[in-house]
Amino acid sequence: MGIRDNTASAMQSSDLEDDSRFTTDINRIAALGKAGKLGRYLWHWKYGKDGACAAPALNVLVRRAAKRLKIREVGEQGRIEYAILRRACIQMLHEWMSPHCRKCNGAKEMIGERGILVQCDACQGSGVRNYPDEERIDALKIERKLYEAKWSRHLRDILSMITAEDIEVALIANTQIHDDEAKVVAQAA
Ligand SMILES: [Zn+2]
Repeated sequence: MGIRDNTASAMQSSDLEDDSRFTTDINRIAALGKAGKLGRYLWHWKYGKDGACAAPALNVLVRRAAKRLKIREVGEQGRIEYAILRRACIQMLHEWMSPHCRKCNGAKEMIGERGILVQCDACQGSGVRNYPDEERIDALKIERKLYEAKWSRHLRDILSMITAEDIEVALIANTQIHDDEAKVVAQAA
């Protein structure tokens, strides 16, 4: 596994998804300024709990996804497709914000009938929610056929755009946190 894969799986683990550890720190991470626009909005929104960053994050994401997926808001058909794209981006931001299994809440296990912990059967112990196709189809307001032919793939692309930004900022932030810790250790010595 490369460093990106490692970070990706780390980001999905429940330890790092415990957003509280970022909440107090995020505004101290000056290096966040070195990150891209979308990554900064995403981080301030998710880990900094700054709801005002949701709309700008969505707008930047829609513009980038349109470019990537070659969707142009031109003509009747283009406008319809662009509206679907916007709903697709909203859905993927929602899934990225709320990745946890709804039954165990990301804990991966539940207290069974005999009072001992058992693996959560809703997520098979992954702690991650598998968003059902029906929910996505409803959110996008499209026919299943169109979803299967095109949008399920587009959704994956959009989610990987979000995840890539998230990871990039994590790498930048980690570097600074390490540097800061090194400084603290040096000062204490
Ligand atoms: Zn679960």
